[in-house]
Amino acid sequence: MFRSLDQADLSQKRALVRVDFNVPMQDGAVSDDTRLRAALPTIERLRAGGAKVILLAHFDRPKGKRVASMSLAPIAGPLAALLGVPVAFADDCIGQEAETAVAAMKAGDVLLLENLRYHSGEEANDPTFAKALARLGDLYVNDAFSAAHRAHASTTGVAHVLPSFAGRLMAEELAALEAALGAPQRPVVAVVGGAKVSTKLDLLANLVTKVDHLVIGGGMANTFLVAQGIGVGKSLAERDMAATALDILARAKAAGCSIHLPIDIVIAREFKAHAVHETLPATACPDDAMILDAGPQTVAALGALFASCKTLIWNGPLGAFELEPFNMATNAAARAAAELTRAGKLVSVAGGGDTVSALNQAGAAADFTFISTAGGAFLEWMEGKELPGVAVLM
Ligand code: AMP
Repeated sequence: MFRSLDQADLSQKRALVRVDFNVPMQDGAVSDDTRLRAALPTIERLRAGGAKVILLAHFDRPKGKRVASMSLAPIAGPLAALLGVPVAFADDCIGQEAETAVAAMKAGDVLLLENLRYHSGEEANDPTFAKALARLGDLYVNDAFSAAHRAHASTTGVAHVLPSFAGRLMAEELAALEAALGAPQRPVVAVVGGAKVSTKLDLLANLVTKVDHLVIGGGMANTFLVAQGIGVGKSLAERDMAATALDILARAKAAGCSIHLPIDIVIAREFKAHAVHETLPATACPDDAMILDAGPQTVAALGALFASCKTLIWNGPLGAFELEPFNMATNAAARAAAELTRAGKLVSVAGGGDTVSALNQAGAAADFTFISTAGGAFLEWMEGKELPGVAVLM
């Protein structure tokens, strides 16, 4: 178990809190404040306990240099508005500037420090940099699950120096992931879609040992069709990955995991929205066409499969979902999962960048049990890897 905030003595303590404020910005203003909102429960809990809240975050990739366009300064205002209290800003995350700002704090105050990645010591996990951060706090809280797959100074280095705790969002994320793969209600179905097998090999290899059913969709499914000797015309497929795909199928068989590939496909001759299209059996893709989505029979089969399961975990779209109408299978399957979840019949967890936008587009996200906003960390966790930023909180 990880240490939670409820075990911490917070009164008058300087709490160094690692958050994910790597938010979308447009013309110097926050254009989507989801990640700011996600950090509020931890900040409010710390303030209620009488702590001084010192926020550590990175923004973009300044690679150890000060890059004005990558400053966290524009975040302080929107965060203050959400919290309803002032948020002070220090122009550096270590050294005199930061120490003076921290020394001026009273219980319940909130201070945001400048971009951690202005210092190369952050990503290098330099112990001197970690100690300079640790000087600013009495305890450390990690609320940035999305950065937990990286062993950086602010995700692991500081945690080795100060008493460390999981924040509310981190705790919620870990509980959801545990419910989906750690100790799930069975049967468990995993849906893995997206462009390529090569980027999700470790993930597939881990999942076949953990889940009862694995649905493979999107461009990845084409690679599996090719491996089985089925023509996919001009579709996106990694033809050199056939042996790997066959190996995954063999591992699934050995582990008792059923693999589900598309039964029917939607094909077109151009990769563009509203291209002239046709629905065919998965074995019948013409040589001059490409598969852009799964068809209605596949969707119906997935609906029945989801209804027979108690837990679902999802990463990646089932088709080229950015292009209408090739989002049909992704949207329909997502809605089926959302309905079963709303009816209390399914625990559904989804994550990974494109997956979140696909489920949002389907209008299904709100009904899922949990949607992880973490991209890389969610995938590494699905791959069964230990996340250094989580391990250090145990
Ligand atoms: P990933 O980042 O691996 O999750 O892949 C997501 C991308 O895969 C999205 O941009 C989809 O448009 C793309 N994709 C899914 N299915 C297909 C397909 N059948 N043909 C081409 N692209 C696809």
